[in-house]
Amino acid sequence: YVAKGRSTGVAGYDPRDDVNTIERLALLGDLRRALSNDELFLVYQPKISLTDGALGSVEALLRWRHPVRGMVPPDKFIPLAENTGLIGTLTKHVLDTALAQARTWMDAGLPLNIAVNTSARNLHDEEFDRTVRSLLIKHGVSPSTLILEVTESALMADPVRATQLLERLHAQGISISIDDFGAGYTSIKQLRNLPISELKVDRSFVQAMEQDEGEELIVRSVIELGRNLGLTTVAEGVETPDALVRLASFGCDIAQGYVLARPMPAEDLDRWRAEWRGLPTVSDAGL
Ligand code: C2E
Ligand code: MG
Ligand code: MG
Ligand code: MG
Repeated sequence: YVAKGRSTGVAGYDPRDDVNTIERLALLGDLRRALSNDELFLVYQPKISLTDGALGSVEALLRWRHPVRGMVPPDKFIPLAENTGLIGTLTKHVLDTALAQARTWMDAGLPLNIAVNTSARNLHDEEFDRTVRSLLIKHGVSPSTLILEVTESALMADPVRATQLLERLHAQGISISIDDFGAGYTSIKQLRNLPISELKVDRSFVQAMEQDEGEELIVRSVIELGRNLGLTTVAEGVETPDALVRLASFGCDIAQGYVLARPMPAEDLDRWRAEWRGLPTVSDAGL
């Protein structure tokens, strides 16, 4: 055992590690219970076309309302689930819930495509494509309704195995999106060989773009790369009208961010949808 990146006392021992471990174990135990106690729920964030302002799809994002701690952010509990076997069960639960919701929207005559996040472990699970398939059948939802978001880092953990699985999912008619693009190290060659249809520019670049021309150049380049590869390009974390206008001028296809809509429970999304009047015009935005 070697403690990383800290100056510590005897033999690299740091009592803070024990505290962290105990804390993590407690949270992990709670997370297992959360699944059966209905403490987990999904919120949905609109992905909006920068061409015509249409709502094309929503991204399902997991939320945990802990009975004592209150809201625990996914950045805290998803990694925990990933480091144990729990992520398999968790992703299955998310898919099951999201596809049930997709079915409800279909039945209401307001169909909506739905994006679900996946983890590295899901991509290494030989059964994953069958799991997804059986859930689609269970809910009577067409594969073309589902987008699976895969992060670059998850792909790169085992690119050969991950690619084979993505091929099988793609062959079923499911769309694959590369999430947080630019934050990892996918080569352009690898990108070209993957069965993907969408590229999401990591929100760190989108957010830094406002203050920094270098970051803006990265955003432009990624959008151009995506377009040249025939992919739909998405900017996530769009927070200002100015960023919206600039992204549109770069040829970005879709935007997702607080300036348009926050992630929200399905009932709120239904209300939001009924009131959505398309993108604000330049004059509405006060530009
Ligand atoms: P992600 O997939 O990249 O999701 C986008 C994140 O950006 C979400 O954070 C969303 O709430 C946030 N976001 C959207 N618009 C804005 C904006 O304008 N400004 C800012 N600052 N943030 C914005 P969230 O919901 O906290 O999720 C964080 C990450 O946790 C996700 O990043 C994803 O990697 C992971 N995650 C969430 N739900 C799931 C899930 O069901 N399964 C898996 N495997 N991962 C999930
Ligand atoms: Mg995502
Ligand atoms: Mg993302
Ligand atoms: Mg992210």
